[in-house]
Amino acid sequence: MRERHHFDGQQLLAQLREWAHGLGFSQIGVAGVDLAAAEPGMQAWLAAGFHGSMAYMAAHGLKRARPAELVPGTASVVTVRMDYLPRASPADWVATESARPLDPAQGVISIYARGRDYHKVLRARLQALADRLAGAIGPFGHRVFTDSAPVLEVELAARSGIGWRGKHTLALHREGGSMFFLGELFVDFALPPTPPVQPHCGTCSACIEACPTQAIVAPYRLDARRCISYLTIEHDGPIPVELRAAVGNRIYGCDDCQLVCPWNKYARLSALTDFVQMLAPIALYPDALLSQVLMASTYPADVAEAAKWSKANAKQKGDAAVTAVQDKPWDNSVKSLVAFPQALATLAEKPQLSTTVIILVAIPETMVILGFVVAILILLRGEPA
Ligand code: SF4
Ligand code: SF4
Repeated sequence: MRERHHFDGQQLLAQLREWAHGLGFSQIGVAGVDLAAAEPGMQAWLAAGFHGSMAYMAAHGLKRARPAELVPGTASVVTVRMDYLPRASPADWVATESARPLDPAQGVISIYARGRDYHKVLRARLQALADRLAGAIGPFGHRVFTDSAPVLEVELAARSGIGWRGKHTLALHREGGSMFFLGELFVDFALPPTPPVQPHCGTCSACIEACPTQAIVAPYRLDARRCISYLTIEHDGPIPVELRAAVGNRIYGCDDCQLVCPWNKYARLSALTDFVQMLAPIALYPDALLSQVLMASTYPADVAEAAKWSKANAKQKGDAAVTAVQDKPWDNSVKSLVAFPQALATLAEKPQLSTTVIILVAIPETMVILGFVVAILILLRGEPA
């Protein structure tokens, strides 16, 4: 094993920052491993049952707030921010996105989920950052995380200056809004911590007022059981009837609390092509026709199987979903219905969706063309004789 070189912490941090920018990260910080002050809040949130059926949130116990117990030997946490607003977004993207939930002809998918699977993108780039670091200082113990249940990501981000925790509970920054992913590199050596930024929510409560399901039950306190992101992505069961009207045409996630946040006028476009929108509308199915497709399709076994699979694999997104769904021996029309996981299952829970539904799919262009042909064939077959 090579020996670890001695290094100057500040110089190394400056070098890390340069590498991180080259890898597509917009910002990095460093947090210590003592998150004891966050433990009571985390425990109270769990005790209130606000995590719903996300049992994994409780499974790691206090380790979530103790990075050195979660990954023994951790001495510092390098935090990163990666902007995901698609680079082709129009200047008025907030207005465009805000109009989607009002348009019953659309099935709305959260902005962050329209490109490649961000877990893969961030993990690969965090690992590349670790590899460069190892090249400079010698081998070191580390582990990368992104959107991982055992890690208190927003707490680490807030402590290291990536942003402050907004009243909607997400991290946000004066110069970057909140349209970004977080990631962490746990390292087994101490780096100088970077200072937190001042919070700037002030008297604003726009996110609380805008939440369609009143999921932000108090500033900085989210009842996930009411949150549309949880209900359409994490929740393994029917959407409660009393919340369905508020969920509306959002079939995967929800951006409302971010869209109204005044700081998102400073949201940055992604430096990467990975988050360019991959999803394309493939077909318009009037509700009745959608039912026909589901109920009277020539592939009922496939549809039933696909709905089951879609539910069971609700967490798969982006290119992971594409690969997974294409591996299935289903007809292409069925694949198009479930190419975006949970869309089928969610739609089945949304009888209130009005006149039309756009089935959005995440499949390569050739499949889109094929999907159009199959969709037209299905529509023709569905005509009364
Ligand atoms: S994501 Fe949507 S439902 Fe969840 S807190 Fe934000 S506005 Fe409310
Ligand atoms: S909408 Fe207002 S209260 Fe909510 S996070 Fe943004 S600044 Fe804070």
